[in-house]
Amino acid sequence: MNHIYKRYANKDKQPVEILHDINLTIEKGQFISILGPSGCGKSTLLSIVAGLTEATSGEILVEGRQVTKPGKDRGMVFQQAALFPWLNVTENVMFPLKKEMSKTEAEVQAKKFLQMVQLSKYVTHYPHELSGGMQQRVAIARALAMNPEILLMDEPFGALDEQTRSRLHVQLEKIWIETQKTILFVTHSISESLKLSDRVIVMGTKPGTILQDIKIDIPRPRDQYKKEMFEIEEYIMSFLKKEIDKVVREELEDEAGR
Ligand code: ADP
Repeated sequence: MNHIYKRYANKDKQPVEILHDINLTIEKGQFISILGPSGCGKSTLLSIVAGLTEATSGEILVEGRQVTKPGKDRGMVFQQAALFPWLNVTENVMFPLKKEMSKTEAEVQAKKFLQMVQLSKYVTHYPHELSGGMQQRVAIARALAMNPEILLMDEPFGALDEQTRSRLHVQLEKIWIETQKTILFVTHSISESLKLSDRVIVMGTKPGTILQDIKIDIPRPRDQYKKEMFEIEEYIMSFLKKEIDKVVREELEDEAGR
């Protein structure tokens, strides 16, 4: 991404800069987390990469091709699985495939990816019969089944409990190694970003900028209680704390000015 800027109009119809000059080059096959305080523009940035939101200026290139709209080369997973409640698990994964291939092929492909997310026993279940973590696994299978080059994940485990999250971290890491996809993963959890990523991009807020680009060399699978994990966590926390303090201070000033 080159020189990405995004402005939105606030409630007084004044333009507010949300993203300021974001530049990032991602190597194929990397697992990259975008980490930052709530409201710093992480989701907006991911949505621009997805082609769902237009940048005010700047460009996104995927293997030299400019992104102007959503495409098959980028699969998206959101915080909520957004499955069709009237379709079973296999049909949900098959849904976007139907335009691309025959029904039989789509079914084979869907089952292959459902096996990868360890849901082979649930292929005929309906979304309401599954836990939140299982629903997210269906969403991951659905995104992967399209064989995108890049998987864009917007706080995909944000709504899940800690234990389910940990289990899904292990599974996602395994899937990433197996499929060798490039993953761009948005989170506000430092430990989640350290557990999973090759690189952590730390964003500051108001406007959203890249503060730090940190390479994480710790061997996998990673243990969050290891000393080296704590050390990087503290280092990142020192940057984020300043950003969070800035937000709190501005909110207090806003309150006082009202
Ligand atoms: P994050 O994902 O880091 O929590 P977001 O990208 O969701 O942050 O939002 C960044 C800022 O942009 C927030 O202040 C939010 O209110 C604002 N914003 C997001 N979408 C819109 C929109 N469609 N219109 C106006 N402001 C928006």
